[in-house]
Amino acid sequence: MRGYAIADVELGSFDRQFRARCRVQRPDRYRLLDALPPDAPSIARGGGVSYVGASFGNDAVCQDLGAFDRLLAFDAVRGLLTVEAGARIGDVQRFLLARGWYLPVAPGHPRASIGGCIAADVHGKNPARDGTFRAWVDSFDLHCAGTGVARVDPARDRDLFDATFAGFGLTGTITRATLRLARPPSALVLRRVPVANLAEAARVLREAANAPVLYGWHDARAGRFGRGVIRVGLASDDGDTPHSESPDATHDLPATLPVLPFALWNRVGIAAANTWLEARWCRPGQTPLPLAQALFPLNRAHLYFAGFGPAGMTEAQWLVPHPRFEAFANALAECVARMRPRIALLASKLFAGTADGFSFDGRGIALAIQLPAPTSATQRAFLDALTEIAIAHDGRPNLIKQSSLDATTVRRALAGFESARTRLAGHNRGGLRTSELVRRLAL
Ligand SMILES: Cc1cc2nc3c(=O)[nH]c(=O)nc-3n(C[C@H](O)[C@H](O)[C@H](O)COP(=O)(O)OP(=O)(O)OC[C@H]3O[C@@H](n4cnc5c(N)ncnc54)[C@H](O)[C@@H]3O)c2cc1C
Repeated sequence: MRGYAIADVELGSFDRQFRARCRVQRPDRYRLLDALPPDAPSIARGGGVSYVGASFGNDAVCQDLGAFDRLLAFDAVRGLLTVEAGARIGDVQRFLLARGWYLPVAPGHPRASIGGCIAADVHGKNPARDGTFRAWVDSFDLHCAGTGVARVDPARDRDLFDATFAGFGLTGTITRATLRLARPPSALVLRRVPVANLAEAARVLREAANAPVLYGWHDARAGRFGRGVIRVGLASDDGDTPHSESPDATHDLPATLPVLPFALWNRVGIAAANTWLEARWCRPGQTPLPLAQALFPLNRAHLYFAGFGPAGMTEAQWLVPHPRFEAFANALAECVARMRPRIALLASKLFAGTADGFSFDGRGIALAIQLPAPTSATQRAFLDALTEIAIAHDGRPNLIKQSSLDATTVRRALAGFESARTRLAGHNRGGLRTSELVRRLAL
């Protein structure tokens, strides 16, 4: 093989539901992107922190972009940043916040790469206000085997530009991107609005649609299902929470799910955590909120993820249109009361975009549900029931989050599945880009 290093490594998804021994190439020069044989199945990998196996697979060479992490050009007047695709979003935000700019859309994991944020079209702390990642990308460079690197922007190639967002690496390897920036609020205050159920949560979310930070946390136990709090981060004029005080990268959530040797999230652990969070969070009131903390609250959640134990976890995230949301929430509450699953986390967000391709977007309320890995019959049956309830209420699944979705279910859940798949396949010459996600969903 032509002068590129390749290692044999075991890789796993963040939720611990899939592992594979993979051949990994870690190019550190642009010319090494061309070193793979042109007929080698491959897939790009950024931070590798997707819940699902999207950036590796049994039969593909995994092209790890970790060495492509440089910030290349910063225009502090126009608010533009050109950055290599392997740069981590947490590092990019730290650089920008110290210079009076930021990216309004950032996923919860600071080790997600810019390439991974494009390829999954991620959302941030208030997708209703800021859209998904695509709203902040001016252009990107894409490497394809045989044709090399080409600049892609909406004026030059709208179809390829659009298909790359939530294209899961199938259109090629993104090598760099130019991002549009925004001015951060000079300071934030966090307003806590307690809610009795999910219908009330939806009303509060809609009323606060313009807040820079907006999401709900809810108790998901039978009898208390949906009780919780909407966390509304609002701009304040005080300026007493300077953004330059962002924590250094050593506090970032690790790339691999840390593991306790036992699972914390049994019924007793879930009850204790909910009681503690309710006491801390569900009182009305407001407190100062450092922006770095608002962007990456999960940096304080090491123990939460460790608590899933060696078997790991499963996340399901569904976006349900407003007119169907209340009926969906009622059906889910009834299902939880009947089946009594163990749910470690239930969170809500507001969306106000347009569903395109495989992007997780649309107009409605999204619920994210995290469960201990479905090793018991009850947990598996609940996941199946949740899927059916969501589909019955026109829910849209987030493909980059749920490792339990299969090819048949996703076709029932996404109305435009076949046209999105055909568009993506048209940019995946010879079907050579592949991954565990591609295999499982037959993308
Ligand atoms: C704790 C946690 C919190 C999260 N919070 C959010 C959230 O709030 N909102 C949200 O939307 N998502 C969230 N996610 C999901 C996560 O942001 C996405 O899965 C994101 O894609 C991860 O980026 P990555 O660089 O690790 O990508 P990887 O896992 O490495 O890859 C993900 C996909 O991107 C492709 N890809 C990566 N780099 C490139 C590249 N250079 N060129 C072409 N394709 C590439 C891969 O092929 C793969 O298909 C969260 C995940 C975790 C674990």
